[in-house]
Amino acid sequence: MSTSTSPIMAQRYRTGDQLWVREHNLAILFNYIWEANGPISRSNLTETSGLNKSTVGSLLAQLQTWGFVKEVGMVNSGLGRPGVMIDINSDAGRIIGAEIGVGYISMVMTDLKANVVWRRRIEPPPDQEKQPQADVLDQAAKLVEEAIREAEKTGNRLLGIGLGLPGQVDHATGTLLFAPNLGWKNVPLRDLWLHQFNIPVFVENDANASALGEGLLGNARQIDNFIFLSAGVGLGGGLVLDGELYGGAGGFAGEIGHMTLVPDGPQCNCGNRGCWETLIGPAAIVDSVRQAAILGNTPILMSLPGVNGDINAIRMEHVLEAAARKELAVLHVLDEVGRYLGIGIASLVNAFNPSVIVLGGLLSPAGPYLLPRAQREVNARALAAARGMVKIILSAFKFDACVMGGACLVLREILNNPVAWRPDAAHGLPGENIL
Ligand SMILES: [Zn+2]
Repeated sequence: MSTSTSPIMAQRYRTGDQLWVREHNLAILFNYIWEANGPISRSNLTETSGLNKSTVGSLLAQLQTWGFVKEVGMVNSGLGRPGVMIDINSDAGRIIGAEIGVGYISMVMTDLKANVVWRRRIEPPPDQEKQPQADVLDQAAKLVEEAIREAEKTGNRLLGIGLGLPGQVDHATGTLLFAPNLGWKNVPLRDLWLHQFNIPVFVENDANASALGEGLLGNARQIDNFIFLSAGVGLGGGLVLDGELYGGAGGFAGEIGHMTLVPDGPQCNCGNRGCWETLIGPAAIVDSVRQAAILGNTPILMSLPGVNGDINAIRMEHVLEAAARKELAVLHVLDEVGRYLGIGIASLVNAFNPSVIVLGGLLSPAGPYLLPRAQREVNARALAAARGMVKIILSAFKFDACVMGGACLVLREILNNPVAWRPDAAHGLPGENIL
């Protein structure tokens, strides 16, 4: 938790000398090129940015010298000289997006256009799901080392690592403060990895990272107000308000999975009762389906290979398979989950007036079974004006949402501060200003 002297206050009124203006304009131009999502002409950039032609030329030359953008040929508009097209240079470097989840570690390496060029996922056998923290950290570090070797092999420099974690993260120190479903407390992951790998490291809550990724690369591109709902073992939320990830006073905002929906409801891993997570999280879904199975109401589910009549073997994937085969008791459970999903979303719609709610993680494949009921609840409960503006959609990345979000943590920093990531910058700390 930050203390009374906040560094944010010092930056808030930063004055704009010439150098600052140039850095700022470099970042703006770089962001416009990214948002174009494909080649964009110089004249289009001049028009979009509102900067004059010679400034755009000089800034582009700078970004090109650093290797972040490249010319990709000419476009002939039919009138006058053909214009030069500019695009992001995907080979400017590599980014690692990582996730330490409950029962798995997932990692991707992307180029600067966020194309995945390498990926790994480790899942321990079901009987070893609760591994000691040291073992998990060791396995994660080995994957990072493998990614680094891969980048070296292809001669690409590593620009940074973005790590998503299922808990509260202190952004000032990059420490995981509390992850209820991992049972971890106070793990200084940014410092650990920074010293281990000497590459800029950014650590974020998994749902926040996923929200960032969805906004930069996925189905919420250029949407300024949206809420990302992410279901893994728990239920997390990422709030993007007015175009920015909303952190609240201490960076802990978005823990909407722990809103109380039923005062004396089921026990939650956070210590409270009746949290939203205990009603619509995958663990809750599997539990309710097991209850139906005990009553003998799920013959299709029980005969699935992988279940074979063993109630304890039922996992979310089996639930979805049985739902696809129209098992009534399973569809009934999912309908009830959809009801609580809708009740929670209605409150979020009233509180934040988002234009989009994105369902991610396990909510995404379950979406088709949950959405009809959820939508009815939202229609019945949210206030009319806000309700009419919101769409509920599914994430573009399914189980990759967090790792792609991790890559975006780094990407966002590079786009907003290219000068700190120029090839000759000897930085070792995230976001350190070199000039
Ligand atoms: Zn809770």
